[in-house]
Amino acid sequence: MEEEEANNLSSAEEATEETPVTFKSLGIVDVLCEACEQLKWKAPTLIQKESIPVALDGKDVIGLAETGSGKTGSFALPILQSLLDTPQRLFALVLTPTRELAFQISEQFEALGAGIGVKTAVVVGGIDMMTQALMLAKKPHVIIATPGRLVDHLENTKGFNLRNLKYLVMDEADRILNMDFEQEVDKILKVIPRERNTYLYSATMTKKVQKLQRASLRNPVKVEVSSKYQTVEKLQQFYIFLPVKYKDVYLVYILNELAGNSFIIFCSTCANTQRVALMLRNLGMTAVPLHGQMSQTKRLGALNKFKSKNRSILIATDVASRGLDIPHVDVVINLDIPTHSKDYIHRVGRTARAGRSGKSITFVSQK
Ligand code: AMP
Repeated sequence: MEEEEANNLSSAEEATEETPVTFKSLGIVDVLCEACEQLKWKAPTLIQKESIPVALDGKDVIGLAETGSGKTGSFALPILQSLLDTPQRLFALVLTPTRELAFQISEQFEALGAGIGVKTAVVVGGIDMMTQALMLAKKPHVIIATPGRLVDHLENTKGFNLRNLKYLVMDEADRILNMDFEQEVDKILKVIPRERNTYLYSATMTKKVQKLQRASLRNPVKVEVSSKYQTVEKLQQFYIFLPVKYKDVYLVYILNELAGNSFIIFCSTCANTQRVALMLRNLGMTAVPLHGQMSQTKRLGALNKFKSKNRSILIATDVASRGLDIPHVDVVINLDIPTHSKDYIHRVGRTARAGRSGKSITFVSQK
């Protein structure tokens, strides 16, 4: 009996081995398959397997996938492929809630589209309007924007419009709504063609997302890779129960014990982020803060220093909790407990990404 099971198992394995899913088998053209290879994307991720064929078929997509699942590739590849078929300026718009995410998505578009000469523009707040207006005047293929600044350009930048747009993507769609972007999004929807494809990506499906779906999608296909809101398997999660006054001491102890790793420490306020960064720097650690009260250049600078491993500790508020792709984070520390359970999932999702392992440590106090 056992033998039979073993046989079944191996034949099942063989069956899957015989038909490995590749980007090519999903219908992606050779130039883009090569781009994936160069990024060392060996095989499509689950969400990519599910959504790429649907998108290539010309359908609208609602993609539900956890952070780090390869969401960006799921919409970028079909858009680039369609752009290859019908080359056109101002072809696609990606809306995203944070500035950092916008830059990150644009990097993936540029990397995947390097071989086909794709031009992207990032349109976010905190950066000079004039410089952006000049970039828009050059008519990029893909615009990645935060909603507020895009509306600003649509209303004030002469000669700029999105009347021929073919693709609209909303990334982290639930957050776009939660953060009161609703008005801006409505304004944007009014000035882009109804005849277009819309992709909506989100880790969580809120009722508001359903509302949005009614407003802007046509017979969408829902693709879902994880129905439960959950963390990945390779993440080890710990908590420490301690009096609030010992938080700093424990933090420094852990950072010393686990020295050599890279850390993101999450705090609840900008002030605490700044304070902890100063404290750690005074103790000789390479720490850098990231929060909403820093200028955009400083925020990007901090992130780049951390990404390039010049700094091993990033101390951040929830601006950094969603979607940011920083591949080498080994440990996430919640110095302050997140207010919402969803934020916890997003925060700890900064580690153990793309199949790697990682740790999260949450400080739980009497409060
Ligand atoms: P995302 O969920 O889009 O933020 O992607 C998370 C990370 O996974 C990024 O660093 C991507 O470069 C990477 N990634 C996306 N697709 C693949 C793939 N098929 N194979 C390996 N890595 C991937």
